[in-house]
Amino acid sequence: MNQTELPPNVSPTSPLLQPDHDEHHADDLYGKLWALANNLWWSWHPECDQLFRDIDPIRWRQIDHNPVALLREMTPEQLAERASELVLHSRINYAYRRLQEYLADTHIWASTNAGVLGAKPVAYFSAEFGIHESVPIYSGGLGVLSGDHIKSASGLGVPLVGVGLYYSHGYFRQHLDDDGYQGEDYLETRIDDLPMKPAVDANGDSITISIDTRNGQLLAKVWQMHVGRVRLYLLDCNVEGNKPEDRELTSRLYGGDQRTRIRQELVLGVGGVKALHALGIDPGAYHLNEGHSAFGPLQVIQYLMHEDGMSFAEANHQAARMTCFTTHTPVPAGHDRFPPELVEEHLGPLRDSLGISEKELMSFGRVDAEDQSESFCMTVIGFNMSRYTNAVSNLHGVVSRRMWAHNWPGREEDEVPIGHITNGVHVPSWLAGQMALLYDKHFPADWKSRIQDRKVWQCIHSVDPGELWETHNALKNNLLSFVRRRVSRQCRRRGENDDAVETARRVLDPRVLTIGFGRRFATYKRANLLFSEIDRISALMQSTERPVQLIYAGKSHPKDEPGKRFIQEIANLRHDPRFAGRVAFVEDYDINVCRHLIQGVDVWLNNPRRPLEASGTSGQKVVLNGGLNCSILDGWWGEAYNGVNGFAIGQGRSHVDDAVTDKRDAIALYETLEQQVIPCFYDRDADGLPKAWINRMMHSISTLAWRFSSQRMVADYTEQAYLWAAGGVTCDMRRR
Ligand SMILES: *Cc1c(COP(=O)(O)O)cnc(C)c1O
Repeated sequence: MNQTELPPNVSPTSPLLQPDHDEHHADDLYGKLWALANNLWWSWHPECDQLFRDIDPIRWRQIDHNPVALLREMTPEQLAERASELVLHSRINYAYRRLQEYLADTHIWASTNAGVLGAKPVAYFSAEFGIHESVPIYSGGLGVLSGDHIKSASGLGVPLVGVGLYYSHGYFRQHLDDDGYQGEDYLETRIDDLPMKPAVDANGDSITISIDTRNGQLLAKVWQMHVGRVRLYLLDCNVEGNKPEDRELTSRLYGGDQRTRIRQELVLGVGGVKALHALGIDPGAYHLNEGHSAFGPLQVIQYLMHEDGMSFAEANHQAARMTCFTTHTPVPAGHDRFPPELVEEHLGPLRDSLGISEKELMSFGRVDAEDQSESFCMTVIGFNMSRYTNAVSNLHGVVSRRMWAHNWPGREEDEVPIGHITNGVHVPSWLAGQMALLYDKHFPADWKSRIQDRKVWQCIHSVDPGELWETHNALKNNLLSFVRRRVSRQCRRRGENDDAVETARRVLDPRVLTIGFGRRFATYKRANLLFSEIDRISALMQSTERPVQLIYAGKSHPKDEPGKRFIQEIANLRHDPRFAGRVAFVEDYDINVCRHLIQGVDVWLNNPRRPLEASGTSGQKVVLNGGLNCSILDGWWGEAYNGVNGFAIGQGRSHVDDAVTDKRDAIALYETLEQQVIPCFYDRDADGLPKAWINRMMHSISTLAWRFSSQRMVADYTEQAYLWAAGGVTCDMRRR
């Protein structure tokens, strides 16, 4: 049975679910590889990655590790030839069988823990999904979190469908010019090269939804992707029937002006709910991951009124009961706001059919319904349209309750109904293959299905320190080769001379303490904090006994000039003799670059201006691979650090004056490096092992890996939010 023909309410975990094989037959090798390439399950199984890589290692790298593009370039005959040369048959058969077993497995966490959800899945809405570098529909942390969320929902067997937008040009690719200044390219992805197909309704017809605005109709086609057991639906405005400018509407992620933004959010929220309806999916719960999709519940209300005959008030109550909303940032610019004209232009027709006034509609997005000057805020409608609301770390919960207390006048700050579920990462996606082999050897045989179980990770303490250290160093060497390859390629692209290319090829030293910093270059993340006192950091880097080296990566928003200057400042350090050979900037930070960095660094540096980092997840990826975090006590680190599982910068204080905070944090950063990190790394025993350091690595793994996994996160969402939303248990506030 073809998956797209499933009756609408078959749970995504149903054994009925088999991958589509297209025109290819699954009983031949090509068909099996095609089936693997068309379910992103392959991306978190290193043996599949290796399989595709082995078919053509050079092409594999050139095409962003995209197996669909790889297979499309080969005929079944060519593939058969390669497979015999390389003796791939048994590996292909094995991988294919594992995928089939995974899809058919009924021994899943959700079968005992999420029964109520049953055939009514959770609908998880997000403006971006970061699943793999070959599917460029994400920009950064929020997207990767969504990707990790649906992968873990698949792993746990939680019935869940994802809803997002398809961006044909994705987010920009970064390159730096001769002067280190960021340039941006938006490359078009060919749909044929993606593991994506038109979604179809019960009659097998492809689906295009339409949304009325005051200014004409907007159309969006619905695509479908398979991420393990989870189906991800993506809306795409590049369809016939749309005005030329609307065909471009979803071409870029976070591109364009406010009008583009509200139209994208209309398509995501309202269009997403309509798409599920057209697919015959009747969700038991809606999860709005950030405010972008928060128009969605208005469409849910519309269906409840017009199909179930509820009044507006009843429908509103019912929709809110089913909705969970997650807010993701305390940075004011991170909360979309729209003027009333834009809201009326785009939501007017829907408002008519709900029978509410312009002022009533505006009041959903306003803290003060009477204040005509207040713009419409997507975070506020998120709060008002959902019964369960959460922040993404303990500290972010505190900050959000303070920040939004005025939305609940009369309540004490700690009575504000915003709880928290701390973010986590998908372990199989971020754990290096070599480290996984080490865990296989020392952990219980079923450890991969018990990732959120702390007892599993305590076994790290019985690993031989030398073995852990060696594994880490092998990963560090991989990282250094990757960085050298990338930076020398960057030099060649800029047309630099052979000497420069050769220097780039030899940058960094495997014996040296290696600090990584990879994230968006937003100013509050203070990428240049380490350079506040240039003599002090250059002395540390030039030390002959105990030197330090740095690897940086990260994009800046195209309109963020100060962020771009940070990049420039750091990228140009390579020309400064004081830093020569000890610093590298890797261009075009994406999932691939991130994976290399977090698997190979000794230390992951994070120094945001507290409390602006809501959670952060890259440091959680580092933990899995034996790296140590050195971070301001902000976001997840504020609740993770226990004195022996990494390093803290400062005492978790912030001053009202940013300049004071920055100065104080810079001093704390130098002191932490000079007094703790560097001595601990270079203090070796008779066997050349840094025993105290390795001890910290073990504590980091045993205390953090299970807690900051997305398995734990999705289990928390299921128990604290989804089951309540779907089961109709009434409770106003379920805060941890
Ligand atoms: C994990 C990840 C992030 C999130 O990291 P932060 O700690 O929030 O900066 C951002 N971008 C990419 C590509 C990632 O893989």
